[in-house]
Amino acid sequence: MKILVTGGTGLVGHAMQQVATDYHDHEFIFMGSKDCDLLDFPRTVHTLVHLNPEVVIHLAANVGGLYKNMSQKLSMFEDNLQMNMNMVRACHAAGTRQFIGMLSTCIFPDKPTSYPINETMLHESPPHESNDAYAYAKRMLHVHCETANQYRDTAHTCMIPTNIYGENDNYNLQDSHVIPALIHKCHLAKKHGQDFVVSGTGKPLRQFVYAPDLARSIIELLPYANRNSTIILMPDETEYSIGDVARMIAREFGYDSRLKFDTSQSDGQYKKTASNRLFKQLLPEFNHTSIEHGLKSTVKHFINNYPNNIRL
Ligand code: NAP
Ligand code: GDP
Repeated sequence: MKILVTGGTGLVGHAMQQVATDYHDHEFIFMGSKDCDLLDFPRTVHTLVHLNPEVVIHLAANVGGLYKNMSQKLSMFEDNLQMNMNMVRACHAAGTRQFIGMLSTCIFPDKPTSYPINETMLHESPPHESNDAYAYAKRMLHVHCETANQYRDTAHTCMIPTNIYGENDNYNLQDSHVIPALIHKCHLAKKHGQDFVVSGTGKPLRQFVYAPDLARSIIELLPYANRNSTIILMPDETEYSIGDVARMIAREFGYDSRLKFDTSQSDGQYKKTASNRLFKQLLPEFNHTSIEHGLKSTVKHFINNYPNNIRL
């Protein structure tokens, strides 16, 4: 099967490049924004028609952590809405039946009717206000896929990972998600003998998936994607407080004595506890890496590649 992967230069894209070598039946093509700017519709159509993939795994997005979501709402709304719309329409132009879009558990309702949140609850009520612009743009990708599936002979699916971490993440201190931000901050704190300052109270809860596991599970779910229009991707339902995660990272650096919380910074959403019931039904044998092991490997990779791994 010929599979085109957008966002091939990002965190999940790198992980997919790494695991793709184990799937000899598939031919993978990886694209970054330099290969094709997905905001440019004519170029996107041209690229899809030229490459003629049977499957598109659409990872590309304007992505970031809580503080980027709060400060760059307009560009995150516009870029994601436009990029996603261009991709689904370009797949139609190229005759690509199977499209996999990536959502995120942060786009679910902030106040769901019950926990854990499952795939059916996506549009029940508004997302958290800190990332509403990104969330609504991503929710529209789901509407677009479902509508295409109604009107066309397509099998479009949206996969919904929890917070992702791993090697080759975005470590930019302003824009990044919590794990890469804390790894970078702890590294600098240790280097300069300063406090390791975690933003917020440390109380919010998050579920994490290691990028190489996520990449592998996306590929292994492809045969089931036809019959499931949304699938949450995560190891189990364990939640970690931000404080727990900060302590695990500090221990990896051997710098856990100077951890502080800056409670003047926003906590964002308190929790978004999601269910892995469907995932476990579809891939009951799938083994995930423990967070301790994933963090160890990620911190080691960060240290070995610093400072060339910091995105500007
Ligand atoms: P990432 O590391 O920030 O990478 C983003 C990718 O999108 C890069 O390859 C980038 O290309 C590409 N891209 C951005 N703008 C583009 C454009 N205009 N045209 C073409 N490509 C463009 O993101 P990630 O963390 O791997 O996320 C992958 C997917 O998972 C995204 O859809 C994201 O919403 C979703 N997700 C992420 C998380 C998380 O915690 N990271 C959680 C849940 C869901 P260049 O680098 O070449 O510019
Ligand atoms: P979210 O899961 O979509 O909210 O995004 P993040 O991955 O950015 O996680 C945000 C949570 O981590 C919030 O509770 C923040 O207060 C907390 N946090 C603590 N320190 C940092 C930091 O340096 N950067 C980020 N992005 N979040 C941090």
